[in-house]
Amino acid sequence: MPTLAMEADGDVEKFMALLDEKIHEAKDMLIERFEWICSQSADSAKFMYENHTMLGYHPEEGIRSALKHGTIVIGQLGLAETLQILIGCDHTDPKGMELAKRIELLFKTRCAEFKQEYKLNFGVYYTPAENLCYTAMKKFKAKYGVIENVSDKDYFTNSIHVPVWKHISPFEKIDIESQLTGYSSAGCITYVELDNAASKNLDALESLVNYAMDKDVPYFALNVPNDMCLDCGYTDEFDDHCPVCGSHNIQQLRRVTGYLTGNYTTAFNPGKVAEVRDRYKHVNDLPNWRR
Ligand SMILES: [Zn+2]
Repeated sequence: MPTLAMEADGDVEKFMALLDEKIHEAKDMLIERFEWICSQSADSAKFMYENHTMLGYHPEEGIRSALKHGTIVIGQLGLAETLQILIGCDHTDPKGMELAKRIELLFKTRCAEFKQEYKLNFGVYYTPAENLCYTAMKKFKAKYGVIENVSDKDYFTNSIHVPVWKHISPFEKIDIESQLTGYSSAGCITYVELDNAASKNLDALESLVNYAMDKDVPYFALNVPNDMCLDCGYTDEFDDHCPVCGSHNIQQLRRVTGYLTGNYTTAFNPGKVAEVRDRYKHVNDLPNWRR
């Protein structure tokens, strides 16, 4: 989306028209891919088709009979940067939120139309774009250079998320993102970043979960860092070495996207690693957090 915003020269109407065009192109690509997969023989995954693991499969109809129940989704990246290019603020500002809703409504409406037209489960997916967040930014920078609050880092912001470096409380983050999660018909995540002290304050954790549920967030996560020294076993949050024995033989577990991954510094590309390091700890805005 940020590239489309640049191509539109900051003209919102032009951007909306370009985006609509791209959503239709994405649909055509998805249909082509779906048809290609459906043209395969059931023998390509014999075990699955012969053991009732693929719901709805009828041998006489081919594998399409099972695959038509899957989801076909259009993802998106960098809403915050897109808004910044188009109107000079992101969706933490009411003006940005207004345009954000218009953009997301276009995704949702088109996918609902495609679903009717093709009788397939088209949907909008708020993706972390684990690789694209970095590769798209590299291409963007090569073409447009460094633009403040848009390309002055190594990654684009995850889907509709509030930029990770924004200093806001977890409740504000939930307030903002929950206004958009309803437009995602295929999947999304909202998380807040906590520090290691979170595990000692169960009441606060419960308040956050209840708050997110009250705001109708479909998938809510609390991210707590977990670093472990592989020599002495000490566990906490620390930098590049163990504060107890000084060892650099450590494992840094982070919830970078929807799941826990081993050492995040080697499991993800430099863009995503930079994004994790920039993540503001939202508990900093809760004065009584450590009580
Ligand atoms: Zn140690």
